[in-house]
Amino acid sequence: MKKWFICPYCKKKIVKYEKDANSKGVFLLCKNCKKEIEIRIKK
Ligand SMILES: [Zn+2]
Repeated sequence: MKKWFICPYCKKKIVKYEKDANSKGVFLLCKNCKKEIEIRIKK
């Protein structure tokens, strides 16, 4: 099952991830607020 990573600034959905995903040090630009967000996911 996939979950959405939500932008901490504007609360928009940024990227989908599997529930057992593990991520740090990955950055994406939020298309809505143009801020650079670190995709930090831990189980
Ligand atoms: Zn945003």
